[in-house]
Amino acid sequence: MASTGQMTARSENCTGCLMCQLACSFTKTSEFSPSKSFLSIERIDKSERYEVGFTEDCDGCGVCTQYCYYDAIESE
Ligand code: SF4
Ligand code: SF4
Repeated sequence: MASTGQMTARSENCTGCLMCQLACSFTKTSEFSPSKSFLSIERIDKSERYEVGFTEDCDGCGVCTQYCYYDAIESE
């Protein structure tokens, strides 16, 4: 489990679906563009495991958590 202070990630639950990135980018930039989101979802090697992180621009609004159906991200 990783925590940024405002957000907590449970990377072990992440499926890499990218719903969180779509929700964040649309909320913050009005575009569905994962690369513009304030989360990073990185595949670990070539496995089906992912590492979830948040950029320094994340304000902890929690919108992304509403679209993660795998309990991989949480706002505090
Ligand atoms: S908490 Fe808000 S700003 Fe941070 S990654 Fe989620 S949607 Fe984006
Ligand atoms: S954190 Fe949740 S919404 Fe984001 S890619 Fe992982 S499983 Fe999907």
